[in-house]
Amino acid sequence: MQEDCIFCKIVAGEIPSRTVYEDDNVFAFLDVNPLAPGHTLVIPKEHYERVAELPAELSASVFSAVSSLTPRIESAVDADATTIGINNGPEAGQEVPHVHAHIIPRFEGDGGGPIHAVAGDEPLLSDEEMDKIESTIRG
Ligand code: 5GP
Ligand code: ZN
Repeated sequence: MQEDCIFCKIVAGEIPSRTVYEDDNVFAFLDVNPLAPGHTLVIPKEHYERVAELPAELSASVFSAVSSLTPRIESAVDADATTIGINNGPEAGQEVPHVHAHIIPRFEGDGGGPIHAVAGDEPLLSDEEMDKIESTIRG
């Protein structure tokens, strides 16, 4: 447990939450400031700041919980769809430095946007630049 981490305190029961799922490794609860009814956060119980820090098995457990919770959330609030996302680092909007996946119920005509709306201006990249990025990531 990380001192001063709100989500570690929620896992420990020191801060109350509306808990919708819990197992040995994963905890899920309703966001206190929901963007839609049923807005849920799914977190590893152990404190990690960014996605890449999670041990592979724990990543799998978190995603497995996201996967099984999503249809239950959709049916609980009669949603048409869900946006599932992670703000991975403060520059991406992460305010709580404990990995958490957002499950946000979506409704036809809700006025929201797609994941494509989260980044800034779209870059104009040449084929060469795209090739270089491809090979750098592949390593
Ligand atoms: P982030 O911007 O870090 O991806 O999202 C953090 C989320 O945690 C926000 O949507 C915020 O409403 C939620 N949150 C922050 N503090 C608490 C809390 O004490 N309890 C609950 N349930 N949600 C919280
Ligand atoms: Zn934490």
